[in-house]
Amino acid sequence: MLAVDGLTVRYRGVTAVSDVDIQVADGEVVALLGPSGCGKSTLLRAVAGLERPDAGTVSWDGRDLGDVPVHKRGFGLVFQDGQLFPHRDVRGNVAFGLRMAGKPLDRVDELLSLVGLAGYGARRVTELSGGEQQRVALARALAPNPRLLLLDEPLSALDRALREQLAVDLSRVLRASGATALVVTHDHDEAFTLADRVAIMSAGRIVQVGRPEEVWRRPVDAETAHFLGASLVVPAAVADGVVTTEFGVAALPWAPEGDVVLALRPTALVVGEGPVRGTVVARVHRRDHVRLSVEVDSRTVDAVSGVGDAPVVGAGVSLRLDPAGIAVVGPTP
Ligand code: ADP
Ligand code: MG
Repeated sequence: MLAVDGLTVRYRGVTAVSDVDIQVADGEVVALLGPSGCGKSTLLRAVAGLERPDAGTVSWDGRDLGDVPVHKRGFGLVFQDGQLFPHRDVRGNVAFGLRMAGKPLDRVDELLSLVGLAGYGARRVTELSGGEQQRVALARALAPNPRLLLLDEPLSALDRALREQLAVDLSRVLRASGATALVVTHDHDEAFTLADRVAIMSAGRIVQVGRPEEVWRRPVDAETAHFLGASLVVPAAVADGVVTTEFGVAALPWAPEGDVVLALRPTALVVGEGPVRGTVVARVHRRDHVRLSVEVDSRTVDAVSGVGDAPVVGAGVSLRLDPAGIAVVGPTP
């Protein structure tokens, strides 16, 4: 397994990665999630051997990789833009991965079907869509059976609809191939789709590691909650699995009892029968719901409604609390 211990990387005085510890177990997919500039790529590059740490170690099964060069680490790499060889066809690109590893070339077709590109072998990569090119890059990286796959924002160059589809496909391919992987992304939906565990980074440090639902429900601090989509932080009290807030009550059986700080995502406040009244000041249509800004007691909160019965700007509405959009802020005991 991969172990990163006390890793620090500086660029001329700027600390990009600061004292990071993280492990990836055999067969596990871990996502490094955080905003742009927080040090995700630097950490990934240090694991790959492309960046020399200023302190700390990267090891595999207890063996320090400090003196092992990139191509001897046995890791596969996939970047944002696939970095395919434009002069080779699809088969040639995937075969390159096998040839580099001294493996027989008969796995190419198997790899192409794994990534959903059966029959594409003779296509020129320059004639493929962005999504297809990323599938080729993935097949090429998987070809030598790397003991660890490192993916840096593998989907972020694609448009949104394709990204969601490819995240699901990528998750399936990683499971089907039994790969051990570390995936960098700034998109929490993508991280939660792909990963067994999510490591949240902020300003060069890992601030929280957990299973997706743990991180989603129990973000470690308000900054993390905001990064995961919460727009409002409110004090509340939980008794017998029911949380009481200024916006009403909701069943929250998993929440700790007593005083808590809640982070509300827009979906936590839904137009319907509820104790709080306000006035709609803005609305934006999303795919399957309408996002509203609602003025409540001279403060503006985010809320949602269905598409069919969305209130117009200026309308008075009642809001109810939906437990699905609620997180409890703070470290888990
Ligand atoms: P992320 O991948 O999370 O967006 P990076 O690891 O690329 O973040 O960057 C982390 C920090 O290090 C940023 O402040 C960035 O500007 C800086 N940085 C990254 N690469 C270099 C470099 N080659 N030289 C100097 N600073 C760099
Ligand atoms: Mg990056």
